[in-house]
This record gives sequence, C-alpha cells and structure tokens, in this order.
Amino acid sequence: MIAYFVMEAALESDIPTYSGGLGILAGDTIQSFADLEVPALCVTLLWKNGFTDQKISPDGVQLDSSQEWDINKYMKPVGTTVKIPLGEKDIALTAYKYPVKSLKGNHEIDVFLLTPDLPENDVETRRLCDRLYIEGGTTRLKQEIILGIGGYELLKALNFKPFLYHVNECHSAFLIGGLMKDLKELSRVRARVVFTTHTPIPSAFDRFEMKDVDALINRYCDSDLLYNIYREKLSETAELNLSWLAIKNAKNVVAVSRKHKYVSEAIFPGYRLKYVTNGVHHVKWASPHHRELYSKYINGWEEDADLLREAVSIPDNEFSKAHMLAKESLIDMVNSETGASFLPETFTIGMAKRVTHYKRNNLILWQPDTLIRVAEKKGGIQIVFAGKAHPSDEDGKNMIKAIHDSAAYIASKTKAVKVAYLENYNIFKASIMASGADLWLNNPTRPLEASGTSGMKASLNGVPNLSVLDGWWLEACIEGVNGWGIGPKTAWTDLSYSNDHEDLHDIYGKLEFNILDLYYKHFSEYLNIMKMAVATIPTHFNTNRVVSEYVTDLYLTSIVTCYHEAERGWVCEI
Ligand SMILES: *Cc1c(COP(=O)(O)O)cnc(C)c1O
Repeated sequence: MIAYFVMEAALESDIPTYSGGLGILAGDTIQSFADLEVPALCVTLLWKNGFTDQKISPDGVQLDSSQEWDINKYMKPVGTTVKIPLGEKDIALTAYKYPVKSLKGNHEIDVFLLTPDLPENDVETRRLCDRLYIEGGTTRLKQEIILGIGGYELLKALNFKPFLYHVNECHSAFLIGGLMKDLKELSRVRARVVFTTHTPIPSAFDRFEMKDVDALINRYCDSDLLYNIYREKLSETAELNLSWLAIKNAKNVVAVSRKHKYVSEAIFPGYRLKYVTNGVHHVKWASPHHRELYSKYINGWEEDADLLREAVSIPDNEFSKAHMLAKESLIDMVNSETGASFLPETFTIGMAKRVTHYKRNNLILWQPDTLIRVAEKKGGIQIVFAGKAHPSDEDGKNMIKAIHDSAAYIASKTKAVKVAYLENYNIFKASIMASGADLWLNNPTRPLEASGTSGMKASLNGVPNLSVLDGWWLEACIEGVNGWGIGPKTAWTDLSYSNDHEDLHDIYGKLEFNILDLYYKHFSEYLNIMKMAVATIPTHFNTNRVVSEYVTDLYLTSIVTCYHEAERGWVCEI
C-alpha cells in the first residue's frame, strides 16, 4: 500500500478542501490511482471552513468569508479515533473517508480526511483545522503535526501497513518522526519515503522555530532526531525547515517538471532530483461537448490518453462545433454573473489561477492603451479572469483591484476590449473557462512556475496556450504549432528571471501579429493549432502517465526494500 499525504485535496467542486494547483493535482492523481488500480490511499485534512469564500466588492476589493459545507453529504466518519500528544495535551483525532471510484467503477481509492473536531478535545483544539493555510501563532505547525503524525498514527490504528509514504509537498513531513520512532534506522526510514517538492522559492518553504516544534512533539518522538537530520546544512539556525527534513529523509526526491528539477537542485545543493512533470486527468477535465466529440471519433481515449493524437483527423466542422458549445457555456456564465455582455463571436482569452505576486495575473492590462489599439485594429478581445488571493496576501488583493480599475478605464475608452472577473474560482469554473476560451493565458515570472496545470486543461479541450516558457510549457510548447510562448526559450539550467516588459511586449506582439489574424482571418489555420494542442499535449500531460512514472521510477524501488525487510520479519503490505 502506498500512502499519499497531502495538505489539500480537490475531490469535488463543492467540497472546499483545496485552494489551488496542489489540491487539484492531488485530486487528479488519486483518480488515476483508482483508474490504474494502484494500491494506494490518501491522507489529508478535513478543512471544515474551506479556504476562502470570495466576493469582490463593486470597487474591486476581495471580501473573504469562510466556506461552509455539509460534510455528511459527501463522506462518512471512519469510527476510529487515535490520540497523539501535542504539547501538554493529548489530542484525539479521527477521519472521514471519501472513496474515489475508478471510471470503470471497479476500483476505489480511500481518501482519509483527518479532523480534531471531537467532543473529547477542548474548543481550541477542535477548531485547529477549520481553515486551510491559516497563518498566525502555531496553528499552521499544529495542523502539519496533525497531518503528518496524526495521519501516520491513524493509518496504524486502521491497520494499514504502507510500504511507502509519498510526502506530496513538505507539509506532511512530520510523518518522518513516526517512521523514525518505529523503524529506528535512518536507512529504513529513507527507503520508505518519496518527497515531491512543488515550491521553487526557498523563502516559501515551511519553517518553524525549533523551540515550538520541540514543545509540541517532544512527548511523541525525539525532536532532536529530526533537527539533527537536517542541521548539517543549516547549522546556525534554530528552525526546522520541512523541505529540508523531507529531502534528507527521502529515497527519491521529485520535482514537478524538468525545468523545476534544475531550479530545485540549485536550492538543494548536493542533491540530485528526479522529475515527473505534472498532468491533469484527461477525462475529468474534458468538457461534456469534448467528451462526446472524442468518444465519437477516438475509440478508447478514456482508457488511453495517447489515442487523443487522432484529434488531428476530426472533421473541422465537428471540432469547431464542440468548441462553440463550450464557448457558449463560458459566455453565458460570464454574462449572467457579471453582466459584461460578452459576445460569442469575439476572440476570448481566459486567465485563471491563484492570485499572487509571481503569477502576474494582471500583466496583460499593464498597458491598456496598447491592448485597446491592438483590439481595435484586429477585431476585438474579451478577457475573463478568475482566481482567489490568500486572505492575507495584500499583493494579490491589490492585483484584483488593479484588474478592476483597468477594466473600468478600458470600458471608458472602447468597446473593442471587454474585461470580466468571475468570483470564487473553483473546479467547476476552471472547467468551463479552460474549455470555453479561445486562448489560455499564463504569464508567471520565470522560473517560479514549478509546473502549472491549468494550461493542460485548456489544451485537452483544444484551447491553445499563450504562456511563459517555464514549468510544463517549456516541455510542451511547439511555437505556432500547438500554442505560443512568452519570453525567451531558455536552457533547462538557466535560472534567470523574466523581464516583465519583454514578456508584455511578447503578449501584445503575438496577439497583434500572429494570433488575432489567424483567429479572425484564417480560422481553419487556427483550428489546426487547436487540434494540434489536443494531439500533442494531453497525450503526455495527463495523470495516468504521471502515476505510471511514479510507479516505475519511484515506488518500485521501495517494493524491493520491502521484500528484504519481510525477510527480516518487518511486515508491510504491497
Ligand atoms: C487547475 C486549477 C488550478 C491550477 O492552475 P495553474 O494555472 O496551474 O496555477 C488552480 N485552481 C483551480 C480551481 C484549478 O482548477
């Protein structure tokens, strides 16, 4: 059994236990575990009040409130309770179980969502895991101890004997403390841990003051043990850095794209990383219209995403009809939610993701007069944005405000550019947007996009990307054939940062001289690019391929260790 640990998991659009790409990737990976019948389970936290319920005020300010949801409608309690020491207290934990069924319905993966919300605990403890990514005090540290140590102990209580722990991003790295306690030898622990790193910014790693960690876990395990393991590198600091903890205790450390491998190796000097480039679940993210289209022309595409290469021979009229239907769903959503009066015949750009500084969500609006000139000359542009800023991310919130203000300026100058912002971005909206736009825009600052996945959802639905050549797109982009790049195509090992103005110049330039003419004047050529996006992108950038690579490159080696251990009398399940 493989135990996949993750802080957030996107299971359904209405279960708000996710904030962005990490949770979406977890949800898609679990679906592929189920489809490929991999013996795995997932451990995550039950975020009772979700991340943030986003409203945007008439003057463009993000307003946050908690996301209430009816847990019992979606999942059942497992009925088992475990106790872990947390500081002076012993706290009780339980979990809810959400089964993810394979597409064929013949296999299930259990997702265990841990919660301390039990009557045995005091009020403060009960509420520890209410909100995802909450900051302040030691709440975050306690959440991560609950995830790592609580999750490890709960699996033991439920009688699971995983041979491998996949620490998907460092938040769950405290499970290493549990393994140390039980296995005692570092080499035995290491053989059982795989670590996927997602963060290319060292300052964003989880770091906690050693004295806080020690005070909270010293009755569970020897915290010095954890500290010593990574201290060699950061000798003077009295902090526990969970990424370092994970990296030093994992047999395999994995980046989420080829570029990200090199970026991460510079962050973790002396370590060699593997990489498994992210993917999306190709059936989940196909719009209903595209599912119907692919099923009509590409027999077997659900089981085998490789077959989508046949998309190139789908008749033009059928291909563009599916796109038009998906686009109408998007336009309806934009018009009914925002009153922006988008038109179905106007070229429409989608841009949606978490709103945070490095993603530069509002870049395309930086020079509104240039955008207006291009749109007036070439036939009109509609841009639909969506995305939440973290409630305490002022930069992110300012970007939403800036989009609002630019939209008002543009509306006062022209009818050729329309801008709309959809509130409360979620799986459902992502699916409508990524299938209904004519172009998917993604312009984070290079080299900070570890992978990115929203552009994969777009490509799957025949929506070409205009995206920074970073993360997954550096692997996927064939310029002018399946989409377009922003910024220079740099070497894998090049760690230089994007130049904002150079990127902006590319965005306006490619729209003016390539993209808009193809769309408005040579639509059959635009259609070819749309088809090439389907034929060349989801065929590789899908989670069935991700999971296959996990199994062959990461998990198999641990199975071998497991057999050796079995000879020494240590029990684990495959
Ligand atoms: C796919 C998705 C993301 C990730 O988007 P990126 O552009 O890859 O950062 C975030 N949130 C939701 C709701 C998504 O569906």
